[in-house]
Amino acid sequence: MSIHIELPERVRYLINKLRSAGHEAYVVGGCVRDSIMGRKPEDWDICTSALPGQTESCLGLPTIIKNGVKHGTVTVRLMDENFEITTFRTDGCYTDNRRPGSVTFVSDINADLARRDLTVNALAYNDETGLVDPFGGLDDINRRIIRCVGKPSDRYNEDGLRLMRTVRFASVLGFDIEQATSKAVHENRELLHNISAERLASELIKLLSGRNVERVLLEYPDLIGVFIPELLPMVGLEQRNPHHCYDVWTHTVKAVSLIENERLLRLCALFHDFGKPDCFTTDENGTGHFHGHPKRSAELCDNIMRRLRLDNRTIDSAVTLIKLHDLRPPAKPKNVRLLLSKTGEELFPKLLELKRADALAQSSYMRTEKLRYIDDLRRIFRQEIAAGSAYNVKMLKINGSDLIAEGFAPGRALGETLNALLSEVIEGELPNERQALLGAARRLREQ
Ligand code: ATP
Ligand code: MG
Repeated sequence: MSIHIELPERVRYLINKLRSAGHEAYVVGGCVRDSIMGRKPEDWDICTSALPGQTESCLGLPTIIKNGVKHGTVTVRLMDENFEITTFRTDGCYTDNRRPGSVTFVSDINADLARRDLTVNALAYNDETGLVDPFGGLDDINRRIIRCVGKPSDRYNEDGLRLMRTVRFASVLGFDIEQATSKAVHENRELLHNISAERLASELIKLLSGRNVERVLLEYPDLIGVFIPELLPMVGLEQRNPHHCYDVWTHTVKAVSLIENERLLRLCALFHDFGKPDCFTTDENGTGHFHGHPKRSAELCDNIMRRLRLDNRTIDSAVTLIKLHDLRPPAKPKNVRLLLSKTGEELFPKLLELKRADALAQSSYMRTEKLRYIDDLRRIFRQEIAAGSAYNVKMLKINGSDLIAEGFAPGRALGETLNALLSEVIEGELPNERQALLGAARRLREQ
């Protein structure tokens, strides 16, 4: 059966323009793979036999981002949309397991496809030629297999990032990794030492969002452990506790796959128990405990996320959620307000989601009670938000200026007074009303 791909009109225009000037041109890579699979491509990359200068003059469109040209990439703008058009090329020798020292332009599409990482990505298409598939990529898509183009260990030695791309595509597409490819991933894992933190983080985050994340994380902790060695002691660490039926790593992986598919939450699930190996003790009955592990997990998460160059907002949110993930105060309004004072309104539902995934990734012991407790917290949270209850100083009905007007001295003590008032409001001992707050402030001053 011949493959037909419905190309967007602009893409067809660009390809036709290049072809009518006597050049070859195709869509290539991820967009071909995704179209065959019925997925919506992120972007449409085009490759051509035209040299960059020929592409520019033939299309006569404004070109932007000039720095791709030495690698053969011309970025053109067509009706507010950017398209990358890259000359067929082979990669020169790889000097640092990272990027080719030079590229050579070639006239044969098959030579260009041979430099690509995986068979499912080594596909090109245009309406006249149909699918160009020299490495069996279509078969591999149909059989749901990830396989290197060429000899896997050679390809990984050329570019170590391909190790992470391999497991990332297996996770995202839900494919199996072919045996020789899988073996080479394990054997060559140390090549990840050559890859920048940013690129590792970006691949890891995509991997975490994949439908096969559970299998990939269970099968490749050694690979991820090259750049996050803190996870290795979790693998096989039995918890010896009725709440748990999995070792710490398996529990973690289950939590990742059960939590809502959102970047921050997937990361929190990954890191939430990293502190357990350092906190493991057994009591006189042989039961395992992990006292203090949320704090230790939060510290490790902070270190690792900084090392991976994640943004500060993600780091702060993850650290907050992980620190709080195991707290179980009675489901009462004042305790919800206290938690809210630490998370804020936006993060609070995420804390509940982390707790839910954590509970579901444990043994079934007391699961119903755990889930009911989380539902109780959620119900109270909604009530408190609807009631406009104060959970931070800004929400108090008085501020620093009010206190100064009452004769309080400006300075640090003012902030401490407001915090003390907030504590009483959260506790439910003081109404959030102007006169009551001022009275309480005076009382505090006299103590
Ligand atoms: P997605 O955009 O969904 O991440 P993609 O397959 O389009 O998937 P890109 O990173 O956009 O991935 O790369 C486009 C194409 O370039 C790939 O399909 C592949 O053919 C090739 N490619 C990308 N990175 C590499 C690499 N490190 N080694 C070899 N080929 C690569
Ligand atoms: Mg792409």
